[in-house]
Amino acid sequence: MVAQRIDGKAIAKEVRGQIRARAEAFREAHGRAPGLHVVLVGEDPASQVYVRNKERAAAKCAIAGELHRLPAATTEAELLGLIAELNAAAEIDGILVQLPLPGHLDEKTIVDAIDPAKDVDGLHPVNAGLLVVGREGLRPCTPSGCMRMLDAIGYDAKGKQALVVGRSILVGKPVAMMLLERHATVTIAHSRTPDLAAEVGRADIVVAAVGRPGLVRGEWLKEGAVVLDVGINRLEDGTLTGDVDFEAASARASWITPVPGGVGPMTIAMLLENTVQAAERRVERSS
Ligand code: NAD
Repeated sequence: MVAQRIDGKAIAKEVRGQIRARAEAFREAHGRAPGLHVVLVGEDPASQVYVRNKERAAAKCAIAGELHRLPAATTEAELLGLIAELNAAAEIDGILVQLPLPGHLDEKTIVDAIDPAKDVDGLHPVNAGLLVVGREGLRPCTPSGCMRMLDAIGYDAKGKQALVVGRSILVGKPVAMMLLERHATVTIAHSRTPDLAAEVGRADIVVAAVGRPGLVRGEWLKEGAVVLDVGINRLEDGTLTGDVDFEAASARASWITPVPGGVGPMTIAMLLENTVQAAERRVERSS
């Protein structure tokens, strides 16, 4: 079998078109665009690139935005002060604090301070809880992007064996909950899983979210598996690669996401969708 590529760039473009239409309708109805404010603390080079990409994509989708650049030496009190201001501002619908933060800042304290109704990264414990109990809330962007890719290829996860490799709050756990919501039988593998190859071999869907190039070997895959590669790893020669050995996996999978051009663009599209959704809900609640 030769796998078909799931083209994250093309799917994200289509999704952005829908988001733009919703953002424009919101502006027509309420006299302002949905507003996304991004907070970047310090000079982490990867974060600079992510933040720039988010800003550009927001502008393309008719979302108003502002980037707050703070020095690496910002204190917790200063950052919490800014978050309190953003929470209180009526025209701001989404707040994103770019992670990772410099070591002296506690990420949990910072994320907890964001108003859950504006938590467009979907990382606040309230939103994580809403996902677990299957209620509406703001959901983490990368896992939502994975689900949207399954939709784009018309894949029904019901009754399928799904393997999620990685158990982070950002990706592994929420993507597992979303697959469960779609009635897959979900296994979560992690750093203490003794036989990853055997777990991979049983799976109809594999979501790899570890951050180790080539961890998931192509020959481990079940024939016809669907592979969503979330990993982003920069090799010594500067190229980006995922957690799955793409060439070997392409010979066994039915569908596979490339890196780059797979899950990454979907993550940004879902952030913008969360922003529009947050704007619509906030207006609904206040009316
Ligand atoms: P993380 O470091 O928080 O979590 C990694 C997980 O991998 C852990 O739960 C750990 O238990 C597991 N793990 C480590 N070694 C393992 C092994 N040998 N076998 C099985 N599991 C193992 O990372 P994260 O934030 O979840 O990100 C994972 C990867 O996804 C990274 O490469 C990151 O850059 C990438 N990422 C991509 C996007 C995107 O938009 N495409 C978004 C977020 C993260």
